[in-house]
This record gives sequence, structure tokens and C-alpha cells, in this order.
Amino acid sequence: MKHTLHKINLKSGAKLLAINVPNAATIDFRIYTRAGYRFTETNIFELPHLMEHLAFEGNKTYPDSLKFAFEIEKNGAYTNAYTNASFICYHFITRKKELKDITDLALIQLTEPLFKEKSINHEKETIINELSRNLANDSRRLFYFHDQVIVPSFCIPWEERINIVKKIKRKDILDYYSKTHVPKNLFFVIAGDLSPRDIDWLEKTIEKKLKGKDQGKLNKFRKPDLSDYRRSLDIYKSHAKEQTRFVLSFINEHFDLNSWAAISILRNIYAGGFSSRIFQKARKAGLSYGPQASFSLARDYSFFSIDDETSLPKVKDLFELMVKELVDVSNGNFTNQELERAKGYSAGKFEKGFQLASDFADWYGTDITMDYPLDSPANYISRFLAIKKKDVVGVAERYITKNNWVLTLMGENLEKEKFRKVLDKYLR
Ligand SMILES: [Zn+2]
Repeated sequence: MKHTLHKINLKSGAKLLAINVPNAATIDFRIYTRAGYRFTETNIFELPHLMEHLAFEGNKTYPDSLKFAFEIEKNGAYTNAYTNASFICYHFITRKKELKDITDLALIQLTEPLFKEKSINHEKETIINELSRNLANDSRRLFYFHDQVIVPSFCIPWEERINIVKKIKRKDILDYYSKTHVPKNLFFVIAGDLSPRDIDWLEKTIEKKLKGKDQGKLNKFRKPDLSDYRRSLDIYKSHAKEQTRFVLSFINEHFDLNSWAAISILRNIYAGGFSSRIFQKARKAGLSYGPQASFSLARDYSFFSIDDETSLPKVKDLFELMVKELVDVSNGNFTNQELERAKGYSAGKFEKGFQLASDFADWYGTDITMDYPLDSPANYISRFLAIKKKDVVGVAERYITKNNWVLTLMGENLEKEKFRKVLDKYLR
């Protein structure tokens, strides 16, 4: 877990976060840019995703994309990228001794894209295939429909997105690139066994590549409009007739970072691990394979959610059991042993999760790009260990209420009212 952070504001306007992880065998090199879906117009919504795909499609130094991929992979490096509502992340993992090579290649990829008409056309097809695959996946559909209820502007229907991507023009891509891939929006996050000399070299090398570029304007995060989501209950048809799925979320419209430790313990008493409350009860009742709970505390909104799938005859009993036990835990009806187990489980899981350079790059990368505080995993562990019963009950009081839920179900022959009654029966 030992590491040190070196946050450097570059003269070019970009930010560099070098994370020294002593003795790490790998280097994780990431470039985050505030260029996610929220920064584009609805009529070209899919553009950030297309731009992410095009990063691998050749550049001035390596016009042939295959040659560029060879260059990256010949020493065993791995590369990928992903896009979300807020940013695109370009990502490279390699061995310690390849730091210089991977830095050069990453900077070439970032600053010299060609956006060839031919590449644009075939990557559009790739994205259409990717989105069409989502349309066939019940689990993905369930969560997407669910999020759509809460923040529709971030979850445009996939069918529409397929039409949108077809209409994007090369000029749109160039415009978006020149607005978003500018120094002010760039966050370089590099983790590994980095000496002060390495960090110095990284700073100089990145600066040299960005020199003379227009700094651009930093994209600011504006809270998206949340819909009238309260007490929404929607049912969708599934492709797989045998399975019925549901996800129930409790929404908090605030960025509730201080609740992290307590909500994490609530989650883990309830559904974290084999010996957790609902895992044991649902399996012993023969209702389910593995019920889940998750949470996210973020700038746009925070939530706590539970989800599972089972056969139609069992779904109502499973749902009722899950809600009943969640409310029970929320009311503080858990033993000291359950609390201590959840604390140890949370701390141990955290400690296990920070072994590789990538774990640190991932943890701090989102934080610096989103303007969240840079807080160490060790601090989180000490907060887990300090949690008391009243903290869990306190956070549950703010999240698990009768007015802030959204329920989405997927399956055949489901009756809305049965599920609404369960919620009205247990929630305060
Ligand atoms: Zn994709």
C-alpha cells in the first residue's frame, strides 16, 4: 500500500499526477480527458465513444494502425480505453523498463490522430455492433433502463445512439477534439516505481509534446437534470423468459463523500461476502444464487442499490426478503459480530485491492479528473475500522426511505402492485 503522490500543474495547462509505488513491476500510464458524453450535444451523443475508438486508428508518426499496435505490443504492453459520462481514459500498462517507450507512444496517440474517413466509417460499424450487442443483453438492458429513469440525458436509448453514430461527420470529430483534447482538459496519471528523475523526465517530455498548443478551456461539471424519479416502478420484457430481474435504488441527490465508510459497512453487513445477511438468507430459502448490493457516491448524485435475478415463481418472495432484511439492517438490527465482520471484510478487501500500479492509477485517476479529493486507501481503511452502529443507522436513515426509490423489473407476467405493496409495507 506504500506510495507517494506527486501532483504537478504543468505550464502547458495540463495536470500530471505521478504515483510512486516502490518496487512495482509495472507502469500504468493513463491519459484522462474531460471529453465524456455530458460535454457533447445530443445530436452527436456518441461522438466521445467514436473518438475513443479512433485513437487506435493511426497517427502522423504511424499512419498504419497495425504498425502502431505492433509497436505497443511488441514488448508486452497492453492498451485500452473507455468512455463514460465525464471523461475518456486512454490506458497503457507495461513493464518498468518500457516507461520511455510507452510515454512516447501514448503522447503520439494523443496528439497526432489522423481521423481518416475510412477509419471513421469502419469504427462507426464497430460501435453499431457493440451497441447492438447491448440490446440483446438483459442484464445490461435492466441497468440501462434503470439509470434512464434517473438521468435520461446520460442514457439515450441504444437504438437512438445507433442512429446518431451513423450521422457523425469528420468535421464534428475535429471540432470536438480541438475543444476537449486540449491541455486544460488533460490529466496524465502515471503509476509505478518512479524515481524523482523519472518524474522529472515525465514532466519535461509531456511539456515538450504539448508546447505551443492552445491551452483551451477546462470543461466544468454541471449537475445534470434528474428526472422525476421518485417512486418510479417500471417493468420491461426480457429476452430470456426463464429469468426475472430487478434493481431497486435509493437516490440521494448530494455528493455525499463523507458517508463512504458507513455506507460501505451497511452494504457489507447486508450483502458483502458469503457470510453476509442476505446472501445467507436468500440462499437458505432457496430463492437465489447471489443477491447483490452496491453504492456510488458521486458529484451528479449518490445511490444505494440492491439487485438480483431468479425464476418468476420466486421473484416476489426474493424481493420481499431482500427489502425486509435491508430495512432490518438499516434499523440497526444486527449483532456486534456482524458489524465487526463487515468492518474486517471492508478493510481486508481494500488492502487486497491495492497491489498493482494499476490499482493506484485507477483509484486516483478518477479523483483528479473529477476534482474529487485525493484521499489514500489507508485513510479509508481507518475510517472503516472506526465505524459504529449509530453511523450505519445514520446513513441508512438518509438513504433507505419510502420516498426516494426507483424500481426496475424485467421479465414476463409481473404485477407492479405486488412490488409496490412490499415497498410500502417495509419502508418508513
Ligand atoms: Zn466501444
